[in-house]
Parts: sequence; structure tokens; C-alpha cells
Amino acid sequence: MSQSQPSEVILNLGPSDLMELAVPLWIFDVDKAQVVWANEAARYLWQAETLNELYQRNMRADMSSSIEGRLSQYKEVLEDADKTFRELWTLYPNGQPATYQISIRRYRLEDQRIGLLCQASAEQDHVPEQMRSAEALNHIPISITLFTREGSLLYANTEANRVYGWGQSPLSDLFTNDDVFADALADAGVHGHATHCCQLPTLDGFRWREISIRACRDSVSGVPAFILSDIDITDQKTQQQKITYLAHHDILTGLHSRNYVNHYFPKLLSKAKISGDRLAMLLIDLDNFKTINDTLGHLSGDGLLIHVARQIKTVMRGRGHIARLGGDEFTILMPFEDTAELDLFCKEILRTISSEVKLNDHVLSTYASIGISLFPEHGTELPSLMQHADLALYEAKDEGRKTFRYYRPALQQAALLKRTLEKDLTRAIKEREFRLYYQPRVDCISQKVLSVEALMRWYHPNQGVISPAVFIETLEETGMIHQVGDWIISQAGYDQKVLTDNGYDIPISINVSAEQFAHANFVTRLKDNLRKTGCDSSRIEIEITESMLMGHGYDAKAVLLELRKAGFSIAVDDFGTGYSNLAYIQSYPISSLKVDRSFIQMIEDQSSVVNMILSLCRLIGVTAVAEGVETIDQLAWLQLNHCNEYQGYLYSKPRPLHQLLHLLNNPPNWATGGMLVGSDEQDLAWA
Ligand code: C2E
Ligand code: CA
Ligand code: CA
Repeated sequence: MSQSQPSEVILNLGPSDLMELAVPLWIFDVDKAQVVWANEAARYLWQAETLNELYQRNMRADMSSSIEGRLSQYKEVLEDADKTFRELWTLYPNGQPATYQISIRRYRLEDQRIGLLCQASAEQDHVPEQMRSAEALNHIPISITLFTREGSLLYANTEANRVYGWGQSPLSDLFTNDDVFADALADAGVHGHATHCCQLPTLDGFRWREISIRACRDSVSGVPAFILSDIDITDQKTQQQKITYLAHHDILTGLHSRNYVNHYFPKLLSKAKISGDRLAMLLIDLDNFKTINDTLGHLSGDGLLIHVARQIKTVMRGRGHIARLGGDEFTILMPFEDTAELDLFCKEILRTISSEVKLNDHVLSTYASIGISLFPEHGTELPSLMQHADLALYEAKDEGRKTFRYYRPALQQAALLKRTLEKDLTRAIKEREFRLYYQPRVDCISQKVLSVEALMRWYHPNQGVISPAVFIETLEETGMIHQVGDWIISQAGYDQKVLTDNGYDIPISINVSAEQFAHANFVTRLKDNLRKTGCDSSRIEIEITESMLMGHGYDAKAVLLELRKAGFSIAVDDFGTGYSNLAYIQSYPISSLKVDRSFIQMIEDQSSVVNMILSLCRLIGVTAVAEGVETIDQLAWLQLNHCNEYQGYLYSKPRPLHQLLHLLNNPPNWATGGMLVGSDEQDLAWA
């Protein structure tokens, strides 16, 4: 669009002169798309029989939508400024194309709206400008093509020929072969323009092109046409595809990612709702991955994950979809006919995963647990299916790992109870609802109380006294055990002082969890908490379980040495239930071994195991303690077989501190006489 000085020609002439003037002049009401005044030359230009006929004519029919849009733009600009615009236009008087140089100025209509005063001059006067625009069209790096509405190519600029070659343009194929393109054309027919992206064969191979389509008329024949301009967007597309790939894939294994699951699985579920297919959602979790990662390093861990991903894919044989959710957790969504088929599938996965593999000079083997939820029985949406498969996975892990479990509604119930328990425990810590009970550890022969074990109780406001068996695991899982552990050691410290003050300077044993033991500043924390009570660490024994001795991710022996150095003595609890190498025991700085209650219960049948443990204790100079002694016969056996100490309901159940003091002041009658003679009197008092 070029701009020049106001046309003086028009302004200085009277109305009849204007009518006679050979220059075509007309006034156009843009809003109504009507010519409201025209001179004879203009009537001739528009090929109207009479001026009246021209004034009645709906000019929109003779205009392309782009011209109509441009006229509105002129009107808007001319509202504020008195300018003249000049432009080369093809007009279609009665559908026949004719090219003119048009000058446009504003003209105030009778009702004060802005109209356009148009003056036309023959195009030949402006050949240089036409030449320039033709030149520009040939230099522009955009493919420009003109097609009839049926798809025959009318014109292609240099770029279009460069891109598509001199033969038939692939764009014409789109007119007949591409439904989406047909929609875009229809759109352009209605709205004047539309865009479409697709891959097209070019001289450089298949490329992504963005095509913008405009409805127009061919300026030569006047037939309705489409003008297409299209550009290469392959680079942007590849970039975008790369981003989408990264967002939807796990880089390490090349499997789909959690993002993909969240985005795509709901669509699969919607499809299944319509098709009626049954689907299974599997959560697969590697059981010993953390240990491998911690001990052999991330490189081996990564290698193992890649290996496992490949193996699962092999077993899937193209059925369903697999993704890595993160860490060592994978998920599969797959169609199935019956659960027998799923059982077989899970068994095959578990078997394949557990086969040995050589990675970075290590022969590794891992094993997994699988939780399964079924669509639609266990849920029809992704979150519920995930949550249910997760509950099933936890059950599989609880039941010894290397196995699979289906979701059952009872699992939901259990999970609910657990959540309530977690909430309750948080309150219990805040409201100081925990207490320490004490159970005496007694010399087998003299029946003298040599020490006591601190056992936690929860004074629940509604449920009464609760055993730690119910809640310790939850404290451990939630990490609350650390806070509670701080309280236990200080409470035990204060209570030990009370015992001493009452004339019983006996040590207290406290139990610690693996989570505490593995914590970096475990010993420092114990010392700090104990110091403020005034109790000496030599009066505290730490009970750890056998499995903690073989702990992963920390050096158990170093922690034990640190404990000893800090003055604590150490007992190994529940001995015999773990798998520790008996020969190793002597290399740890421990002072007592507590034989697990299960062996004492079956002492008649399992005497050889207990005998072996007692011999071991004698050999390495460690105190042997029998746990859970309930009957006089059991105690008699222990006395005969030289067990040092015992603990159990026979002497006393765990009891609060003041009741312990009462017991210490008033030992049971039978216990004061030394070697047992068959009395069956038992402690009755405290539960
Ligand atoms: P444990 O350390 O093996 O404690 C012995 C358990 O056996 C206690 O159960 C005790 O009440 C019970 N017991 C003692 N004598 C007999 C008997 O003659 N017959 C029977 N049937 N049972 C007997 P409790 O107090 O319910 O504690 C259970 C477990 O909870 C403990 O096993 C210990 O592992 C853990 N625990 C208790 N208190 C604490 C604590 O303060 N911290 C930590 N981390 N764990 C604790
Ligand atoms: Ca214990
Ligand atoms: Ca025990």
C-alpha cells in the first residue's frame, strides 16, 4: 500500500464535471458494501446498465474477502487521518477481472459515517510497480501457489517450484487425498482463510510444511480460487518432537515415563470403556535394587535397570504398554482375557527378572514384587487403579517378596487403618501418650534382678494400653521413630536415676530400630539425650537385632565400636531368627545374646539349637539371656544347661516403674530361695 498527496483533481471540480470526468470515481459505503455515488466512467467500469442498478448492487459478491478486510482497515485508518492510499487491485465487475490502480480517500457520508472515495486509473500506467511486486514474489522464500477451487494449479512462484519441482505440485494431491486439508479448504471457503500442517514430498524428501490458505479469485480468469503460501517447519517440528519425546520417555531405559502414563493411560482407559476390553494394571518393584545401588554403585544400578526393562519388554511380546515410573518401579497396562493368563504372565516376569546377569564384572541378580489391579473391577480411572495396584504391591512385599498379588477391597481397609494410625501416632507424640514399662532380667540361679528391659507402651485415650507390636513399624516407616527414640533414651535415663535413688543401681536395656541404628549421628544423638538425665552410659544397654548386624548402606561394626567407645553395652536381640554367621558374632563388641522366645517355647524339641547358642556364648564370653520364659520347666532346663539370665512372664510381665520398684522391694517368694523346687506361683500383676 503506497500513500500520496490528496488528489487535487477531484476537489476543485463541480458535481456535473465530476459526472462527465473520464476518470472513474465512486463513493463506497464500506458498512453496507454499496456504491452510494458513481460517475459515468465508474458505471462503465463496473459494467452497470444504469447508475441505479449499480447503487442497488451488493458489492460484496464482487469482492474477495481479503479486499473486504482491507476496505475495513482503510475505513478505520481514515476515521482519524485524512490520507490517500494507492494500490493495484483486481476488480471483478460482473465476475470479470480487471486490474486498476485505485486511489482511496475518505468521504463523509450524509449520516457522518466514513465512506471511501475511490478513483481508478488503468493499470498500464503503473507497470513498474507491478513489475516490482512480481519480482518480489519470485524472491520471497515462501512457496506461493494459486489453485482453482478444484485443485488445478494456476500459478507457482519460484520458491514453490524450487521446493516441489517443476512437475505437478504435491499440494494439488492434497485437494483430493487429504480429508483434514479438505476441512481446511472448507474453512477457508467460509472464513476466508485457514491453515494446515502436514508432511509433503519435496525435492529434499518428506518435509513438514505449514500451509496458509486464502480464498480469492484468479485475477486472470476471475474464477474462484485459493491462494496458498507454505513454509518449511520441519526444524520446529523436530524440536517439538524431541521435547515431546523427552517429556514422555525415560532417558535411561528408553521406556515411557510417568508423564506419558498420566497423559496417555487415561485415553486407553476411555477406549476400553467403549470397547468393553478388560485391562490389568501391574506395578513392578525391584526388591533389592537399593542394596545393589548402594553397594555396587549407580553405574551397576543403571545397568541393571536397563537390563530389567529389556527383559520385561521381551516377556510382554508387544502386548500392552510399559513405563518406568521412576526409581526401580515399572508399570504395565495390558489387555487380558482371564486371570489365569495374568498369573502366568507375572510368573514369567518374576522368573525372567531373577535370572542372573553379568554387569561391570559383577554377577547380579535381582527380584521383584508385583501388585495388580483390574479394569473395570478395581477402578475405571487411572488414580484408583494405581492406588489399588500399589496396595496389592505392598501386600506382595509383605508376603515375602518375589511374588505377585491382586488388589482386594480388604487391602483398602487395612490402608485406611494405617492412615488413621499414622494420624493417631502424630498426636500421641505431641500429647506425650507413650510410657516405658520395665521387664526384669533375672539371674537363672540366684533369681536376682540384674537389669531391666525398657518396653514401650502407648496409653491411647480411647483404646487403652497398646503394645508396640501394633505401632512400631508405622513409627519406623514414617520416620517418627527418631523423635520417639530421643524420648525413650532420655526417659530410660531418668528412670535409671530413680532406680539408683531407690537403692537399685541396675542397668536398663533399650530397644532401637534399624532406622535409628543406620542414621548417621545415631550414637551422638543417644549420648546427647542421655547426658541431660545425669545417667551414665555404662548403665544403658542397647538392644539391636541380628539383621541389623548385616545392615546395608552402613558399617554395623563401626557403629557398634562407636557405641562401646561411648560406654554403652550391646545386646543382640531375638537371636537365632536371623541368618547371621555364628562365627562372625565373636568379632562384634557385644556383651549379651538374647535367645529368641520361639526357641524357648519349644525348648523340649529345639534344645539342640539353644544348646548350641549357649555353648557359643560360653566360648566367646558373652552373657546368654533366654527370652519369654513362662514356665518353671523352661527355667529348670535353662538352669541345667547353664544359661546365665532369663526374662519372661514367669518372673514378671513388663510393668510401669513404680510397680517395678514394688517388685524389686517384694520379690516373689519362690524366687528368693535359689534353685527351683517346683513351685508354680507366677507373677499375676501387670499386662
Ligand atoms: P522384644 O524386644 O523382643 O521384647 C520382648 C517382647 O516379648 C515384649 O513385647 C515383651 O512384653 C514380650 N515378652 C516378654 N516376656 C514374655 C513371655 O514370657 N511371654 C510372651 N508371650 N511374651 C513375652 P512387647 O513389649 O509387646 O514388645 C514387642 C516388640 O516391640 C519388642 O520385642 C521390641 O522389638 C519392640 N519394642 C518394644 N519397645 C520398644 C522400644 O522402646 N523401641 C523399639 N525400637 N522397639 C521396641
Ligand atoms: Ca528387646
Ligand atoms: Ca527379643
